[in-house]
Amino acid sequence: MKTVRVGIIGVGPRGLTILERIVANERVKKSADLHIYLFDPSPPGVGCHDPEQDDYLLVNTVAGQITQFSDSSVVGAGPILEGPSFHEWLEDDNCSRLGARRSDHGISPDGYYSRALFGRYLHWVYHYLVALAPAHVKINLIRDSVVAAESLADGSWALSTKFDSFCVNYLFLTSGHTKPAEREAKQPRSKAESESGTTVISDPYPIRETLSFITPDMTVGIEGMGLTTFDILGALTVGRGGRFVNTPSGGKQYIASGREPRLAAFSRSGLPLTARAANQKGVSVQYRARFLLADKIRMLRATRKLDFLTDVFPLLLADMQFAYYEAYLRGRRDPVTSMLFCNQFLCADVAEREALIKQYIPAQDQFSWGSLIAPIPSSALTTALDFQTWLIGHLREDLVEAKKGNVDGPLKAACDVVRDLRDCLRSAIDFGGLTEESHRWVLSEFAPIMNRIAVGPPASRIAELLALVDAGVIDIGFGPGAACQASGAQKTMRITSARWPERGIDVDVLVQARISMHSPANDASPLLRGMLKAGYVRLFHNEAFHAGGIEVDRNFNWVSSAGQAIENAWALGIPTEGVKFYTFVVPRSGVNSTALVDAGRAVTKMLSMVAGTASVPPTEVLDSAVPTTEYASAFASLYGALS
Ligand SMILES: Cc1cc2nc3c(=O)[nH]c(=O)nc-3n(C[C@H](O)[C@H](O)[C@H](O)COP(=O)(O)OP(=O)(O)OC[C@H]3O[C@@H](n4cnc5c(N)ncnc54)[C@H](O)[C@@H]3O)c2cc1C
Repeated sequence: MKTVRVGIIGVGPRGLTILERIVANERVKKSADLHIYLFDPSPPGVGCHDPEQDDYLLVNTVAGQITQFSDSSVVGAGPILEGPSFHEWLEDDNCSRLGARRSDHGISPDGYYSRALFGRYLHWVYHYLVALAPAHVKINLIRDSVVAAESLADGSWALSTKFDSFCVNYLFLTSGHTKPAEREAKQPRSKAESESGTTVISDPYPIRETLSFITPDMTVGIEGMGLTTFDILGALTVGRGGRFVNTPSGGKQYIASGREPRLAAFSRSGLPLTARAANQKGVSVQYRARFLLADKIRMLRATRKLDFLTDVFPLLLADMQFAYYEAYLRGRRDPVTSMLFCNQFLCADVAEREALIKQYIPAQDQFSWGSLIAPIPSSALTTALDFQTWLIGHLREDLVEAKKGNVDGPLKAACDVVRDLRDCLRSAIDFGGLTEESHRWVLSEFAPIMNRIAVGPPASRIAELLALVDAGVIDIGFGPGAACQASGAQKTMRITSARWPERGIDVDVLVQARISMHSPANDASPLLRGMLKAGYVRLFHNEAFHAGGIEVDRNFNWVSSAGQAIENAWALGIPTEGVKFYTFVVPRSGVNSTALVDAGRAVTKMLSMVAGTASVPPTEVLDSAVPTTEYASAFASLYGALS
């Protein structure tokens, strides 16, 4: 039997999904003697989740909802390989060896654990897969980066690391979060050195090392109030010896160590992300789409490109309203009234739905998308003090809503719809489904809103933020539209409120708190730039809009500069963010997770090519915006939405 060589560039969570699918398939049916070459300079499996990072850096998903293994919900992924979810792994001391690190409360599927532990889980999964690989699958780990890929005359790939080269017949690119070329900032070692101007940190990771030069006498501006900001706050407070204690009223108080710098955070909206609600959905319960159905989207896409605002958003809104009112009426009235309302709401048109809402719900309790995305009342913008007072109250209310849960709390139930229906959104956005203008709008306007309302930090993080404000460690009261810049001949940058120009603060350090989503054309690694230059891949464009990433077809095969699918090379995850939407997630159990579906699809195609069978999925016509039925069935987790 022939020997087939497979290369996987990048063995983070995505690379692991490819390895998992290969091992699962080969255990059931041998396709060939497989030699798998895994390339990664980091410990295999962990990706960007360094097991050595500090414990205060948390995963923002509950442990029960994270897995690296396919299950029976995954459409078309192939044989199932049983393996523990993150929660099951944490619970099993033989696996996680938590020992004394296990808290008195035990391990909860609804708990948020550290990314260091998550990295250890991922590394463990790698070893588990290696142990389960049948004898004919040889796994070779190369702890180095691939710096170049070259297509050889027979179609195979020559992969170069710094000191070596390897030849593979099939190639998977799963290189995840990479750094952009220009991110090399010189960091001052003292306040005196920084006085020559503000030091700008455009990439705060790895957090502890990058921020270690910051001394307590410095003022640190944080641009952005998303998940990265919470990491930075952790590093500059708890990471500096401070601690949070619970107060008798159920809140948190910050006990400073005196080693914290002064902090000031601002963002375009002026608002932090909202808290995740207490999870009432267990491991795999999701809101089931009633309006934003994948087959509806598919039928629309068969005729034309979509406009998100007119074609998709009204359906999403109706689903959010449904979830909100179902929970509201169940809680405020009784379950039967809630059912009655829901039955009528489902079959009503827009005007009838509005009438129903008026009939059942008092005006002040009605769901308002407008207030959800722009909650700041004009009265809160009169003075900086008004805003500060309003913001503290707003964050406290958010904690109250979070406590009600993502099923029983009407507001959080509605927000969770956006997360639960992400696959439906993907079915509209992926592979250039939107018009160019609408695609631009989704990435610049809708995605930040989605992040703020649906994928925020654990509620404990918001409670801690409030405690830091209370302790005077951080200032978050600059209002919407604040900016940080140097003016005139001044070298030091200043955060200035857009509303109250006298409200400002000079900063010694400005940390841009976001994860880079740069174009592969601007990648620090020579690999992606070289592949682009050689024409093996091309940047993804929706008309004139480069939405990010390289282009792949619906089998995840690379699309060359000539517009042809390269049948033996695939890319999954972040390198494809652009043609795909929201690729930076880890799989969830029991919900036909898109990361697992995609891995299954790519590996199934590779193995059928290895076996020489005819079951290779038909290659798409590349400029068609219409997904095939087969592709759309990948979204069948949407509870029978497809016939
Ligand atoms: C700081 C941070 C925090 C996050 N927190 C969460 C979270 O809490 N929850 C969540 O769901 N998601 C989180 N994410 C999103 C993240 O995208 C996913 O969790 C997941 O790590 C994505 O997996 P990946 O394999 O695609 O990418 P990565 O995890 O980035 O792994 C890619 C791997 O490829 C390797 N690689 C890159 N280039 C090469 C090359 N040329 N040769 C060889 N190897 C290469 C890298 O070394 C790396 O190990 C976070 C991301 C970051 C950056």
